[in-house]
Amino acid sequence: VLSKLIRYIQDSTLYFFLFEKNRIKYRVAGSCNMCGQCCRKLILGYRFGPVKSHRQFKKLLKRRPEYKIFKPYDEVSEDGYLRFSCMHVTEDGKCAIHPDRPDLCRRYPELRMIELGGGLPSHCGYKFVPEDNFEEILTEKIEKSEKGSGR
Ligand code: SF4
Ligand code: SF4
Repeated sequence: VLSKLIRYIQDSTLYFFLFEKNRIKYRVAGSCNMCGQCCRKLILGYRFGPVKSHRQFKKLLKRRPEYKIFKPYDEVSEDGYLRFSCMHVTEDGKCAIHPDRPDLCRRYPELRMIELGGGLPSHCGYKFVPEDNFEEILTEKIEKSEKGSGR
């Protein structure tokens, strides 16, 4: 029972807030290249972690009926999380309801995804970088200033 409880806490947001939050601080860098990957394989938060079953998703829908636009995959992924595809992503990766998209999509990508154990899709134009990663910050600043000067 104890090991199950420890595992549960380690999987949860609570663990992140108690032990991990102050260890490394991250920030979001980059920009969206509109590939649409995040809309085809997303994870949803439920209580202390991501949705892990169709049953949890049904419960979540009661609180968040707007999430009915997300269709769960039949199988749970290897990491134990249920993935979803949005019914409004177009074939070329655009959002068909962009002005009316849910808050969840407006906030994407959130640093909270780290605490939920999720990562960014492989070709995502964003990335989470440690705030004290000097090399990343410098490279980004140089790229921005080069774009700004039209090089
Ligand atoms: S509502 Fe739009 S932005 Fe949100 S998941 Fe669906 S297609 Fe993507
Ligand atoms: S995966 Fe990243 S780059 Fe692709 S649409 Fe989503 S936010 Fe934009």
